Amino acid sequence: IPVQGLAGGKVAVLGLGRSGLSAARALREGGAEVVCWDDNPAARDAAAAEGFDCEPFKTPQAFEGIARLIVSPGIPHLYPHPNAIVACALEAGVPVDNDIGLFFQSFATSAWGSFETMPRVVAVTGSNGKSTTSALIHHILEHVKRPCQLAGNIGRGVLDIEPAVDGEVVVLELSSYQTDLARNLTPDVAVFTNLSPDHLDRHHGMGGYFAAKRRLFAEGGPDRAVIGVDEDEGRFLAGQLSEGPADDRVIRVSVERKLTGPGWQVAARKGFLSEYRKGKQVASIDLRNVPGLPGSHNHQNACAAYAACRSLGLAPKVIETAFHSFGGLPHRSQTIAEHKGVRYVNDSKATNVDSAAKALEAFKNIRWICGGLEKEGGLEGLEGPSASVRKAYVIGREAAAFAMQLPVEAEVCGTMDIAVRRAAEDAQEGDVVLLAPAAASFDQYDSFEKRGEDFIAQVQTVIAR
Ligand code: ADP
Repeated sequence: IPVQGLAGGKVAVLGLGRSGLSAARALREGGAEVVCWDDNPAARDAAAAEGFDCEPFKTPQAFEGIARLIVSPGIPHLYPHPNAIVACALEAGVPVDNDIGLFFQSFATSAWGSFETMPRVVAVTGSNGKSTTSALIHHILEHVKRPCQLAGNIGRGVLDIEPAVDGEVVVLELSSYQTDLARNLTPDVAVFTNLSPDHLDRHHGMGGYFAAKRRLFAEGGPDRAVIGVDEDEGRFLAGQLSEGPADDRVIRVSVERKLTGPGWQVAARKGFLSEYRKGKQVASIDLRNVPGLPGSHNHQNACAAYAACRSLGLAPKVIETAFHSFGGLPHRSQTIAEHKGVRYVNDSKATNVDSAAKALEAFKNIRWICGGLEKEGGLEGLEGPSASVRKAYVIGREAAAFAMQLPVEAEVCGTMDIAVRRAAEDAQEGDVVLLAPAAASFDQYDSFEKRGEDFIAQVQTVIAR
């Protein structure tokens, strides 16, 4: 979609990855003059091949006449990793923004038919469960044949989506790096799944990380906020947004506590999702046999998606039916094989301690493959969840150091092929070989997807033997 409101102006784009290039194209389509910067010559060549001006960045004149700087989410820009170009823009008083900010600016200023048929934007943020929740909302909307598009951190870049049609819903998954920079954040429905430590190095600890996420709920923000209230931060946010306990602008979501009070609530306990309004239960859904959503963490995602879809006017029954046809996402609690009574599960996306803990809680008799690039904050919080672990098989460049910190018996394997082979050798009928690394993948892989694919390949090798 072409960017509105910057026609004739000069806009600089820093970082020419997927979102940077798509921002450059959308800006050009909207009539802006675009200047592109990137340290990587290959990225500059790719942009130049599309006719963009890729002059090397030169201080101090660089920001003369520039109306805005668009920064890619991959570029750190604050202490302790300030970026020189961003610093220069701020010094020169140039507004800094990203593709998400441009999207909201353009979406909001387009002319739509009537208020009733206006396209809606549902934005999902939080530490874990963003992709699953976003994909689930999108799946439910497709199930009821409502026009919808999925974009952001999952699916297409936000500026690459088709212009929305009447009644359409755009579902956006937004990471903290995206909410952090966007100047405009005005979704109709905003979802906050949960909060646990992640990306702390780039956000000055938990406070900065939470601040980045809660920008989605700022003044003049969503008409409806769906908020996971199982952590203090979520409870705080819900309290800040409500005029009073009965204010149904906020839907509180929990999988840990019995929610009481006169407001609008969706909770899952003992495998049942319940919706309460004004203190009365108005709907209940059995989640225990929903194949694509195993474990209480997925019940949290189901509650959040349910609440978002209720906000859009969908009935409980159709949401329940749609749950059953949701296939789940690759690399998240994905059963990839059953062999000789052993189940093999790929949860390569468990890149932090909290998501790995949830994966461990969802299964029993676990042969746990873990390790990789450790996140700041260490491995605390795994004692309880690892009660169902029989043994850990540790991968990663620092496998020995990682293994020492685990609260269970651990074998240092180093690489995936050895870990899968050893886990499969030890596994007995009824065991689950689970990849849930509790760490990033970058010490050995380009991405968590590549790590998950390697796990699948190694499992297939072991089974074929
Ligand atoms: P995100 O997009 O926020 O990273 P995903 O849906 O991709 O979230 O899931 C990431 C990881 O977190 C997976 O390992 C998954 O099993 C786990 N997970 C999914 N939903 C939740 C949740 N609600 N709470 C905690 N962990 C979760």
